[in-house]
Formats: sequence, structure tokens, C-alpha cells
Amino acid sequence: MGEFRAVPVLLLVGFHPAADACGIPEAIPEPQITVNLYNGINLSSGDLQRAEREAERIFLYAGIQVGWIPGMLAAGLDRNKPMVQSNAVVLQLRIWTRRMAGKRATGSETLGFCLSLDNGDAVVLADAIQKRAVFGATNFTDLLGLAMAHEVGHLLLRSMSHSVAGIMQARWTEKCLREDERGFLRFTPGEAALMRNEIRHRMGLKRQVASLP
Ligand SMILES: [Zn+2]
Repeated sequence: MGEFRAVPVLLLVGFHPAADACGIPEAIPEPQITVNLYNGINLSSGDLQRAEREAERIFLYAGIQVGWIPGMLAAGLDRNKPMVQSNAVVLQLRIWTRRMAGKRATGSETLGFCLSLDNGDAVVLADAIQKRAVFGATNFTDLLGLAMAHEVGHLLLRSMSHSVAGIMQARWTEKCLREDERGFLRFTPGEAALMRNEIRHRMGLKRQVASLP
């Protein structure tokens, strides 16, 4: 019996992109993204990890894996130099304060915004999120994670549009935050499919570029 149980585990371990090099037919890649996370407010690593886990959880429901890389510059932003090409699956997310965002942050209830859909670059506003969390039905790190997922969602959907339900609503009510444990703040199936397609498309472009003579 023990040997039979081991089979699925071995299959999972054997499924690895490196299999391409061995001549094994290439499997459809798992949609995954890497986010360079710029901690512009020196948030503690514990709080950062809790927010990351919350955002990861939302993307996992959508069938997408997220990896985080600490940004090298705390708050750096060189507007003249795009940091990534539009076909890369590497995105930029900056944790700023409203003051750091200056006039880019419009509206007193804004928790985040996109700097550039083309460059895959977005911002979440930690102090605005903290303020909302204090009076709301959720805690700071969970709300930060939700805001991170929302902004990365805009980047992957390549759209500033909002939906009437789920994580991509323009505004989360206290009621939906309170009931989030029941799974309301997720990407809709349509949004999830669009994002997976976008990621696979970009991963395909990267592979094509890499294999050019
Ligand atoms: Zn939005």
C-alpha cells in the first residue's frame, strides 16, 4: 500500500520545467508571477509576510502562484527608465505612504493605484490602509494583502476597470470585509481566466525570445 501512495508524490516532484532540456514534451506552464516588492515604509518582515500570504491566497484561488522579491530600492522610482518589459511576468509593487505618492494619489479613500500598466508597476498606500483598518472590520496586514492583490490584479488584467463583485470592486464595504472569510473577496472566474491567459501569453513570449538563434 505504501508504494501506491508514493506514486502521486513522485509524479509531482518529477514535474519540473527542467524536463524540457531532456526532450520530454513541454507541459503547459503553471501560471506564476514574480513581484518585486518595494517596502518603502520599513514595514516589519512579519507584517510584510502576513500581507504577502493574504495576497498569495487570493491568487492561488485564481490558479496563479506569486513569488515575492524584496525591492532593492526602498522607494526608488525612476520615471524615465521602465524597469521591466511589458512581456515579462515580473511586476513591481511599491508600499508607500500618501505623502510619498504626492498628487498621484487621488481621493481620500484611495488605498492604491497603478503607476503604469505598460511597465507593470503599482502602489499600495500603507497609511491609508492602516487608517481604514483601524475603523474597519479587518486588520492592517490582511487589508494590505487585499490591496496588494487588487493592484496586481489591475496589472495582470491590464485594465483600470472595476467589477461589481469580488476583489476587483472599486470599494470594499465593511460588510464584505467582515464576511471575507467566506470567500467573497476573490477574483471572479472570468478575471482569473483572463489573468492566467495573460501570464501564459507572456511566459510564451519570453520562451520564444529565449530560443531565438
Ligand atoms: Zn482598483
